Amino acid sequence: MRAVVFEEFGQEARVREVPDPATSAGGVVVRVEATGLCRSDWHGWMGHDPGITLPHVPGHELAGVVEEVGSGVDNWRAGDRVTVPFVCACGRCDACAAGAQQVCEVQTQPGFTHWGSFAEYVALDQADVNLVAVPDGLSSATAAGLGCRFATAFRAVVGQGRVAPGEWVAVHGCGGVGLSAVMIAVACGAQVVAVDVSRQALELARAFGATACVDASEHPAGADEAVRELTGGGAHLSLDALGSPVTCAASVRSLRWQGRHVQVGLLPPAAGDPVVPMARVIGLELEILGSHGMAAHAYPPMMDMVRSGALRPDLLVTSTIGLDAAPAALAAMGTAPGAGVTVIEPAKEA
Ligand SMILES: [Zn+2]
Ligand SMILES: [Zn+2]
Repeated sequence: MRAVVFEEFGQEARVREVPDPATSAGGVVVRVEATGLCRSDWHGWMGHDPGITLPHVPGHELAGVVEEVGSGVDNWRAGDRVTVPFVCACGRCDACAAGAQQVCEVQTQPGFTHWGSFAEYVALDQADVNLVAVPDGLSSATAAGLGCRFATAFRAVVGQGRVAPGEWVAVHGCGGVGLSAVMIAVACGAQVVAVDVSRQALELARAFGATACVDASEHPAGADEAVRELTGGGAHLSLDALGSPVTCAASVRSLRWQGRHVQVGLLPPAAGDPVVPMARVIGLELEILGSHGMAAHAYPPMMDMVRSGALRPDLLVTSTIGLDAAPAALAAMGTAPGAGVTVIEPAKEA
């Protein structure tokens, strides 16, 4: 099969022929129809993820068609169109038994623990635990984001964040996950303050219903003061959807008393642990929460909102490219990610 491969961290990846993936017991091989280009792929390529061994094929948010089914798979057949949470759970550990597959103790992640979906085919483990059917009428380009950014944002806002109608929600960083969070919070009846350094990203946030936008480039030490002013004392819920020491601290400082901070953006160890204003966490009784994808069994309420049109993940996809354009697009994620979501379609001509 053709795949995007990198041999060294931070060195341009290449498209080349590699062996087809093999189906594991309980797993499937999926023919990739679409795979999103996510900042996590960039972190992996840069060497920020200690689990990656070289050479490597990135890609973890995908949709496609089941091509081959391993032994012991009961619920899926060749030809089924599916997506998958980027955290593939084992289905057997204590976390899985408790329904917390997104923090499975022996999880696998395509594009991190093994070769991912910037390829014609990808292997996925434990299909009965992890696959999610893609409804007719939802394109694979749209469904790909349901494997990572959109589902992660849904769990961050609705699950961990417990958003309620009328609340103020601040979203620091309006890339794929941040814009998804804006759309989801608005659909839940919240008022959203969107924060980003890119005017294009803020325009999209406004189009998705943000009440106010803050240009973070005018606030290099963090946009928290602007958020507190706009929200009359602070947001009820604030997300760091970028993942940086500055946005993490700004998100915590954006909150009013008993507010909830949800850390969604990855904070790679190389950047050091962020300084969290813990005195404020105590004095205002803030909650600090993490959010790590979403288990396959938690998808139905989100899928219902997608089906009804209350959520429009299709609007997040701003460009589609072929495999040949992927290496350059991956490298650009660090400096010029562009507004909205780029999706790679392996069957698309360059
Ligand atoms: Zn992702
Ligand atoms: Zn598990």
